[in-house]
Amino acid sequence: MSMDKQKLGDALERLARVPRERLGFFPTPFHRLKNLSEEFGVELYLKRDDLTGPATFGGNKVRKIEFLIADAKRSGAEYVITHGATQSNHAMLTAACCACTGLKPVLFLNAIVPPSENDLRANLLLDHILGAEVHIIPASPGEKSGDADRRREEAAKARIRELESKGHRCYEIPVGGASPIGTLGFVSGYIELMEQLSSSGLDDPDYVVHASGSGGTLAGLLAGRALTGSKATILSFASGPKGSEYADHVAALANRALALLGCEPLVTSRDVKVDTDFVGEGYEIPTEASTSAIKLFARREGIFFDPVYTAKALAGLVEYIRSGRIPGGSRVVFWHTGGATALFAEKAMVGRVYS
Ligand SMILES: *Cc1c(COP(=O)(O)O)cnc(C)c1O
Repeated sequence: MSMDKQKLGDALERLARVPRERLGFFPTPFHRLKNLSEEFGVELYLKRDDLTGPATFGGNKVRKIEFLIADAKRSGAEYVITHGATQSNHAMLTAACCACTGLKPVLFLNAIVPPSENDLRANLLLDHILGAEVHIIPASPGEKSGDADRRREEAAKARIRELESKGHRCYEIPVGGASPIGTLGFVSGYIELMEQLSSSGLDDPDYVVHASGSGGTLAGLLAGRALTGSKATILSFASGPKGSEYADHVAALANRALALLGCEPLVTSRDVKVDTDFVGEGYEIPTEASTSAIKLFARREGIFFDPVYTAKALAGLVEYIRSGRIPGGSRVVFWHTGGATALFAEKAMVGRVYS
């Protein structure tokens, strides 16, 4: 399949009309993994969104935050309020991007793996270095995760009311930055990949593989794929359990992002292929396969992946290749979405990554 240059150009033009704050280093690198391509008998490439910047620890969220911060500034906001878990990459990167744009970050974080107050680690440590206002919502024993999420959302609403009553304008970003505006970041990301492939003399890949959480990345990739006329199969591996409504949610998000570009809905829930078989016991809980994937990619290619998202997707990828579900000789792009700070988080989250 060769790429449709006209569609690519049209998609770029539509995106160029949307306000975007330049915060990261784009395009992110794209390269082949020589050793593992040979070992697996596929052509394996990486899209390096772990290297987005703005600082050492980048990640996929920066793509979304560029569009979200532009929208926040347009609305005249002074404070940016966002949500996540205590080791949220999205929350940390929001705080970093607020720092470079003069906005004040306020983070509401669910403690899933309980952090130690006297030993702040990984992203939670970085949140504090960045000067974010941090609110931790401790888990209540026996509470369902939906209830903890509701408590987090109510706490954030209360803080927003308080700030606004004092005349401070607030801009709220949902978990993972997965709003229609944030999703535009990955429409742009998909187009960026297509341009890189094209300028390297490579065709549309057979598979684009990535880890999925809030669904914003996937929604953007699907919208970008539809816009560019790419035929690649987008294969997503979940970082936590997903309900039956997930596919509809992702398709709706993709179509709302397309609507912002003046496009008809092009994505249906049938396009959403999310495998939850590699989640294991749950979000932030490593599995044997995810732990060995971290070691394998570090020891063969010198690249670090994170235990919460990318390692679970890599575990899925390795299994698909070994079982032939991804046929030998396929051209596979794995989207490195970042997150390796979690290697320095609480032990329970990291797993046995050495020995
Ligand atoms: C947030 C995140 C994802 C998932 O992206 P969503 O848009 O939330 O689905 C994947 N990998 C890493 C490292 C992330 O931080």
